[in-house]
Amino acid sequence: MSEVPSVGVLTISDRCSRGEAEDQSGTNLQALVTPSGLIRGQVKIYQCVPDEQLVIQETLIKWCDEEKLQLILTTGGTGFSPRDVTPEAVKKVLEREAPGLVVRMITESLKVTPLAMLSRLVCGTRSHTLIITLPGSKKASEECLRFVAPAIPHAIDLIVGRTKQVDKTHNILQAEGAKYSSALHQGHHHHPHHHHHHHHGHKHLHHTPHHHHHHSHYHGRHNEQQESKADVSQVSRRVRKSPYPMISVNEAVEIVLAQAVEQGIKSVSLISALGYVLAEDIYAKDPLPPFPASIKDGYAVITADGGGVRSVVDDSTAGCSPEKTQVSSGMCVRINTGAPVPAGADAVVQVEDTELVKDADDGCTELEIKILKEPFVGQDIRPVGCDIAEGEKILEAGTLLGPSEMGLLATVGATHIMTIDKPVVAILSTGNELQNPDEPLKAGHIRDSNKTTLMALMTHAGFQVVDAGIARDDPSMLLDSLREAFSKADVIVTSGGVSMGERDILRPVLISDFSATIHFAQVFMKPGKPTTFATCEYEGRKKLILGLPGNPVSATVTATLYLLPLCRKMSGWKACENTCIKAKLSEGLHLDPRPEYHRAQLTWDPETQLPLAHSTGNQLSSRLLSMASAQALLKLPPATAEVTSLPEGTIVDAVLLGVWEYSSHYFH
Ligand code: AMP
Ligand code: MG
Repeated sequence: MSEVPSVGVLTISDRCSRGEAEDQSGTNLQALVTPSGLIRGQVKIYQCVPDEQLVIQETLIKWCDEEKLQLILTTGGTGFSPRDVTPEAVKKVLEREAPGLVVRMITESLKVTPLAMLSRLVCGTRSHTLIITLPGSKKASEECLRFVAPAIPHAIDLIVGRTKQVDKTHNILQAEGAKYSSALHQGHHHHPHHHHHHHHGHKHLHHTPHHHHHHSHYHGRHNEQQESKADVSQVSRRVRKSPYPMISVNEAVEIVLAQAVEQGIKSVSLISALGYVLAEDIYAKDPLPPFPASIKDGYAVITADGGGVRSVVDDSTAGCSPEKTQVSSGMCVRINTGAPVPAGADAVVQVEDTELVKDADDGCTELEIKILKEPFVGQDIRPVGCDIAEGEKILEAGTLLGPSEMGLLATVGATHIMTIDKPVVAILSTGNELQNPDEPLKAGHIRDSNKTTLMALMTHAGFQVVDAGIARDDPSMLLDSLREAFSKADVIVTSGGVSMGERDILRPVLISDFSATIHFAQVFMKPGKPTTFATCEYEGRKKLILGLPGNPVSATVTATLYLLPLCRKMSGWKACENTCIKAKLSEGLHLDPRPEYHRAQLTWDPETQLPLAHSTGNQLSSRLLSMASAQALLKLPPATAEVTSLPEGTIVDAVLLGVWEYSSHYFH
């Protein structure tokens, strides 16, 4: 154990400093700080000062800069009375604020009393000292100290830069706030593992038994917080070649699709049915149109009257009741498109084929018109059921509901529809280097782009996604994130952590902690070689885990090739694979030893029969820019001894991306 932190307790109170009151809080705080107390530490200085801003500042600066205390606790002067200046004084002294501690204290205090709303606590650091202000009363100051106590030892480690401790907790501390408390406990305990993996070169690798010393001190959000059984500590003994056989992309797709679990049946309302596959046949309960309807604006007439003059007796506009009027010989009714043809009439003459003969009321009423072209029976009338017959099957089970299908459902008044449920997809990023896009970039870090790309890809494709956060490259943290993702989703997609580095822990954790079956972990393709696919049982349900490589392009390409078809199949699509067309290279391309999915844009020239494929440039798998503008993935064959490049004009297969793929269901 390192040396005990030195602590100062500063009571800030006019009355105590004048000796008019006893300093109960300061005395109590001193009692709480001992080498084995609530706060591990040794009180080196205790002082009581009046509520004078300058005095407080001077004292704090001296304690930080000269005494080099590691922790200062102040009590008093944090309220709303005019003499309360502790926060102002402390803020002047701090170099960096630590609002998280304040939030914690106030949040917890609010549960005790709403008056905590009036608290003005401040926390932060000045060089190597952590300063925590506490309320003035003995009870409140102790309560607040208890609320932040779990974070203090680690905060001191970080400030002092005690590198060994910091390293241990570093990864974990980057994690989301929710995981904070578990992280704190992790950092202060050792992992004396003495065992290593035994890998087999089989296609299906099952759980490998380990001699495991279970010593979990892992307290966190779940009471049942677990420590991973995966031991990844023996860096030097790790396998240096993937023990998994390399398979082709086609084999990989086949394996993934074979594991697809078709989802159950779910009734959805019409407004949310878009993109679902029908689980029932849909019949029309009434005919369309339900009445003989006019196709034109014109006059409803009796054909037997022939051409010539008619008296206009009424009108029929869209929405009128069909029983409104009766047409008899020599008469006609003015009619609009979609309006019911009145009884007696058997044809509509479009207005263009008529002439006005006589009107009244300054042009407001037509009295007589002349039919210029002799009508025939049924002219410009849609008979009852002409679009949809009563009882007709209009949509078949298995149909994907697109815009027109949605319209048909509306037409027949199908407001609740049986569909095949869609899988829920959880997206989890892994990596110690990752941070959320909204955080200022720390040294050695990059922003997590994969989660955003993958969530967008899946959302756009109509699937329900869950943000499963960022897991650190620590087996227990990954285990925790995976359990959470498993509890919410059917398909769990991770990115990163599947290569051959010692921090690539997805497979060890899946095997050791979930007894997962790894179906493949190497695919003969570029990018995307380490793509991993596994299944396991979790709480009685089958979970499918797609471990995508971390490089942004690799993750996007492999999600397109494996994840989209998988989710489509699970959602009941009949044609679930991506649409592949032929395209012509606009330039010569070098071939890689592996089959390459080369990002390209497509253009159509009216002169040529095939689209022209233009490479998006540098195909480095980290370069998401090469994917951003792409409309297709060109399937380039692997290089051979004889053929190392393809000349301009070569015809290649192109997997359509983006908006194109949504029509694939209809192309098949
Ligand atoms: P990995 O597969 O974990 O070895 O990661 C391969 C590369 O991808 C590394 O350069 C990572 O920093 C990067 N990477 C991993 N995950 C992400 C992510 N979510 N967003 C952006 N880059 C990532
Ligand atoms: Mg990584």
